[in-house]
Amino acid sequence: PIQKLTHMSTQFQEGITGFQRFMEIMNLKPAIDNKSNAMTMPKVLGEITFQQVSFRYEDHLDDVFVNLSLTIQPGEYVALVGPSGAGKTTLCSLIPRFYDVTDGDVLLDGINVRDIDLQSLRKTIGIVQQDVYLFAGTVMENIRYGNPAASDEEIIVAAKHANADDFIMSLPNGYDSEIGQRGVKLSGGQKQRLSIARVFLKNPPVLILDEATSALDYESENIVKESLEMLAEGRTTIVIAHRLSTIRNAERIFVLTEDGIVEQGSHNELLARDGAYAHLYSKQFELQI
Ligand code: ADP
Ligand code: MG
Repeated sequence: PIQKLTHMSTQFQEGITGFQRFMEIMNLKPAIDNKSNAMTMPKVLGEITFQQVSFRYEDHLDDVFVNLSLTIQPGEYVALVGPSGAGKTTLCSLIPRFYDVTDGDVLLDGINVRDIDLQSLRKTIGIVQQDVYLFAGTVMENIRYGNPAASDEEIIVAAKHANADDFIMSLPNGYDSEIGQRGVKLSGGQKQRLSIARVFLKNPPVLILDEATSALDYESENIVKESLEMLAEGRTTIVIAHRLSTIRNAERIFVLTEDGIVEQGSHNELLARDGAYAHLYSKQFELQI
């Protein structure tokens, strides 16, 4: 319970995402039902399908999207771009069932996510987002959160993959260093690399990167980007990014606006279309000059 409270106080300051977890921890969140006959997923390939999905937050009047359909192939690397508030984060949160669709279906490998055991479903999805959720404890314990059954050796391997081992080893107590209020202070980039290490440890077939580097300075952004590219290898990956430089290499880019998915294609295809994406891109370009 004390650890729960510690989670709570750090989480409480982190806005919506933190608040969501706070609700989860306190079991206050309207329960997402786990069917009694729900199935445990065998090997997951990572095909994701949205079938005419509509979604509205409970007690809200506006639909975030209506009749949205798209399919992401196993192992595909796609980007989701669009203005703030368009629903990018919401769309991704329907895959691990942080919320249930209002209408339509979300499928994983052709199976309705509602028919999959919740724990089994969430095991297949790794998420790296802007806010990193760390709790008071050691670096080792914080990485182990990605897979409670992992050995110390596996944690170190995951940290190496995430470009985190070097800075961890330079901390006063290495992997046993305490983080949190009374422990060592970590930079944004270091925290982000711990969260990436967790996902390496979890080794999920599906990966969601939600503005994972947008709070970082240029230098740490580059280190983190490198680890994220390694992390994405061999997994179905959805990248949400403000900075178009991070999504240029996506196999397919979906442009989400308040009108739904208005464009999809590769970077070059979408530039040639001279539509919404090209507009976003030139605006971004102006900002960077
Ligand atoms: P994006 O990630 O593209 O910036 P979001 O998915 O965060 O967009 O938000 C889409 C819309 O849903 C916005 O209008 C936002 O205000 C609203 N919204 C997001 N989270 C919640 C929530 N937990 N409850 C109610 N409305 C929400
Ligand atoms: Mg968002």
